[in-house]
Amino acid sequence: MKKEGTYHFETKAIHAGYTSKEHSDSLTPPIYQSSTFTFTSLEQGANRFAGVEDGYIYSRLSNPTVTVLEERMAQLEEGEAALAFGSGMAAVSAVLIGLTKANDHILCSRGVYGCTFGLLRMLQEKYQIDHTFSELATTEEIISKIQENTTCIYIETPINPTMKLIDLELVVRIAKEKGIMVVVDNTFSTPYLQKPLTLGCDISIHSATKYIGGHGDVIAGIIVGNHEIIKQLKKTTQKDIGGVISPFDAWLLLRGIKTLAVRMDRHCENAKKLANLLGNHPRIKAVYYPGDQNHPDYQIMKRQMKNGGGLLSFEVNGTYEDAVKVVNQLKLIPIAVSLGDAETLIQHPASMTHAVIPEEVRKDMGISNELLRLSVGLEAWEDIWDDLKQALDSL
Ligand SMILES: *Cc1c(COP(=O)(O)O)cnc(C)c1O
Repeated sequence: MKKEGTYHFETKAIHAGYTSKEHSDSLTPPIYQSSTFTFTSLEQGANRFAGVEDGYIYSRLSNPTVTVLEERMAQLEEGEAALAFGSGMAAVSAVLIGLTKANDHILCSRGVYGCTFGLLRMLQEKYQIDHTFSELATTEEIISKIQENTTCIYIETPINPTMKLIDLELVVRIAKEKGIMVVVDNTFSTPYLQKPLTLGCDISIHSATKYIGGHGDVIAGIIVGNHEIIKQLKKTTQKDIGGVISPFDAWLLLRGIKTLAVRMDRHCENAKKLANLLGNHPRIKAVYYPGDQNHPDYQIMKRQMKNGGGLLSFEVNGTYEDAVKVVNQLKLIPIAVSLGDAETLIQHPASMTHAVIPEEVRKDMGISNELLRLSVGLEAWEDIWDDLKQALDSL
């Protein structure tokens, strides 16, 4: 690709980080299914190990197919470099372990992915790395929650499953003054809808399992940041802990990324239509969708996101049993966790993704027993709606 960085997002999603001339003229990046790489001389091997000569050594350290993925993602997020992992949690754990040491403190947005919650607990129990949750909504509140030993602010926005947003520029302004790193789990938005690094955040993380792959066929993770951070994390938490991605999975992600922009547009369009229709159904108590003008964080969405995303939640006007009935009545929409696939997926956070969180804490986070989360897929919105409507009408 010529003049990297000057192309639009859609073009970079297809071309960035890859030159066919360097790969036997292959139009698509080859899958380098090789664990190790050969040296022409002992001196060359030594130079590669010493880092004085570029080149591949061993696929836990780097692999040519994975390199294409990392370069493409770095460009899409407008960061300097990226690092791919074998899962979103391998990426999250690499970052949290890489940025902290014993007796440090992490300030987190209230409501993080269930396994991130589990990881934070483990870090606390085993390594005395403390954490607190915060709304991160006002300057006063953020300042009051920052401790002397806070080294990192960890944010999910939109927050699953309530779809609340966090004003990233507000957090960054305070964090910069105090020299604290800001990390954003950008899984829900993808770089197409939100670019945390351009707002001053230090690291953007993705569960690439979701929209980046986009087809429900791969588990993977990616982090993007500046050269220095990525180099440090590569050395500490990738090389020595080793949660690397396979070349084939990297190739699947490269294939998925080509259509990221068109897919996200359709996800958003469908979600907006469904949020509106659900909001007008008599058996629905509330709909939470950041792209909805009545959403409390709509103004933040307008500032930091391109569109409202493909996820929404809604509360059934009734009991827990009614919510169960609606889900079990669906004919087209599969019941499954995960998100960002071509298929619309529905799940029940209280009994599934957020079941590990104690009920009182859950309620406090806005997750009632009647709340359902929909990952709106790429089907015709009329068919998704028909399915939801017949299930709701059955109550
Ligand atoms: C799925 C998910 C993760 C974990 O990713 P895996 O690929 O399943 O390991 C982390 N954060 C968010 C927001 C997610 O949705």
